[in-house]
Amino acid sequence: MTGRQAEAALTGRYHNGFPLSDDATRVIVNRQLCQQPQRWYRDLRRSGASRVQIIPQVDTDEAGNLSAASVQPDEWGAFLCAVFDLWVRQDIDKIQLHLFESTLAIWRGFTCNLDDVNNACRECPVLRFCHEGVPQCRLADGKNALCAGYRHFFTYSAPYMKALRDLLKQHRSPRELMAMLSQAE
Ligand code: SF4
Repeated sequence: MTGRQAEAALTGRYHNGFPLSDDATRVIVNRQLCQQPQRWYRDLRRSGASRVQIIPQVDTDEAGNLSAASVQPDEWGAFLCAVFDLWVRQDIDKIQLHLFESTLAIWRGFTCNLDDVNNACRECPVLRFCHEGVPQCRLADGKNALCAGYRHFFTYSAPYMKALRDLLKQHRSPRELMAMLSQAE
C-alpha cells in the first residue's frame, strides 16, 4: 500500500461531521465483551469486517444511574485503549475503526462545531475529539455516562495519533508506525 492509498483508507468519507464509510459495520459492545478486548478484537479480525463503528451498550436503572449490566466508564476506557494497542500495531491500513478514524481526522485539522456543547464538557481538554461522546451514552442530565473512559482513550492515543498525523503530512505510509512499534518491543 502506498502512502497515498493508506491515507485514503485512513480518511474515508465524511458523515455527520465525521469520517464514516456508508457500509460500516456497527457493533454493539456489551459489558461482557468490553471486559475481553483482546478476544473481541481477535473475533473482529476473523469476521473480516474492514469498516467498523463500535457502540457501547449503556443501560440505566430506574434512578437514571448506570445499571450493573451496562458498560462502565473505566472498563470502556480500558477496552478502547486495548483495542487501539492492537490496531495500531497490526491493522492501521486494514481495518477502519470509526472512532480512531475520526480522532485522527481531528488531529489532522478537521474541526466541527462546538458551540452548543453542555457545560460539563465545555472546559474539557479532549472536547474537540470527544464532542460530548456518542448520543447513545448521554444521561438525562446531558452528561456522558462513559466520560472518564473517553477521556482516558483520547489522552492515551494522543502520541500515536500525532505520529500518524506527522507521517501522513510527509506523504509517508502509516505502516511506518507499525514497523517502529514492532522494533521498539
Ligand atoms: S471526555 Fe467527558 S467531559 Fe470531555 S467532552 Fe467527552 S463527555 Fe465531555
